[in-house]
Amino acid sequence: MGNEDLRNLPYMLYADKEGRIYDHPYFRMAGFSGPSPADLKPEDLIPLPEFSKLFFIPDCPPMGLDPSTGELKTVSEIEVDGVMTECFAVAAFLEPGLVRSHLPAVDYGPKSYTLPMWAYTAVGFMDGSYSAAGFRIEYNHKWDPKNYDDRELVPAIEKYRKEHGSSPLVEHLVNCATVNHCFAAKNLFLKRWEAPLPVSQACNASCLGCLSFQPEGSCEASQDRICFRPSTEEIVSLSVNHLNQAPEPIVSFGQGCEGEPLTQYRLIAESIRKIRKRTDKGTINLNTNGSRPERIREIANSGLDSIRISMNSARPEFYNAYHRPKNYAFEDVVASITLSKEMGLYTMINYLVFPGITDQEEEVEALMLLIQKTGVNFIHLKNLDIDPQLYLEKMPESNSPAVGIKEMAALLNKEFPDVELGYFNRPVR
Ligand code: SF4
Repeated sequence: MGNEDLRNLPYMLYADKEGRIYDHPYFRMAGFSGPSPADLKPEDLIPLPEFSKLFFIPDCPPMGLDPSTGELKTVSEIEVDGVMTECFAVAAFLEPGLVRSHLPAVDYGPKSYTLPMWAYTAVGFMDGSYSAAGFRIEYNHKWDPKNYDDRELVPAIEKYRKEHGSSPLVEHLVNCATVNHCFAAKNLFLKRWEAPLPVSQACNASCLGCLSFQPEGSCEASQDRICFRPSTEEIVSLSVNHLNQAPEPIVSFGQGCEGEPLTQYRLIAESIRKIRKRTDKGTINLNTNGSRPERIREIANSGLDSIRISMNSARPEFYNAYHRPKNYAFEDVVASITLSKEMGLYTMINYLVFPGITDQEEEVEALMLLIQKTGVNFIHLKNLDIDPQLYLEKMPESNSPAVGIKEMAALLNKEFPDVELGYFNRPVR
């Protein structure tokens, strides 16, 4: 990239040890793909949306581009008013619906802790505004943070309790809505769109980036896992109320505040049968790791409408390194996707995207084979929330070149025009 292009890039950001963020007077922002610097062009950047977050990364200096030489420099300190000040890296977390194309340029060497689970993204500053490396894959007003005003939520919860009474599941979801700020839980009380049905405490995988359970010595889990087994009665009454009253209603088993729902497949199948006896409205969805196709068959036979199966990779060795499956194999997950499509479920893959791994040529080829083999309907391009250093350490070695996340999406669109790419579950009835 010529020096002129470099001068069109936003300035690198850095933070002081209190976390105050500054734009560097000289160095320009850089981006990484996996462990390596990757070309960052002005057209790769978008204005940082209002509800995105900014983080500083303690102990880790930023890396920036010298616009006169194009060299990538680690910037450990800067002189401010004659005082040398330590510099720490800054990263962004994009609003839902946006896919990250570049990781932040950070020297993780000095750090000895695991970063909390967010999708850290390259970000810079110029002309009074922040720009981040990414692109929009889907806009959906139902997941736009602007449409979630907690001043409406609290009275709605009170009204919900009066009208429908309370239960352990309702109170669990009150905590999800008010403490974890889960949009699906807020929707239950605002009586609209997609609502959650967490039911499982256990899991048969051990994902590196599990939001509800993290081992000792790692980072904190993003939310507590549900600590009881809801009754069929409370699942059915909550679901029937929502499906009958909410516009474009979806109820979804498999949430971030639980284990793997297939460990409760009988409870789910029985609940769905009873729900469908009382209403044929709306969509009943299952978010799952897809580990047990025979259990998915039983749930599908009970009246399920759609399914979303999570995976970080279509390559078994990368899948195993991230999901660390117990008593099931990658092939079982592929069989679940195939079976779901054969049984007429609207079948989605929740593809956990990481620049430099997901867009490797070998990964793109593997994903295309998986799409051809299974006939999946929809692929969520979800930014993987994880410490980049940890993920890169755990993934198998590969020198398969990365084509770029945006380029990968364009390739999928071209090769599979009937497969939708997006970010959000959708009603299918
Ligand atoms: S499958 Fe879900 S609950 Fe289980 S470890 Fe992975 S993220 Fe956590």
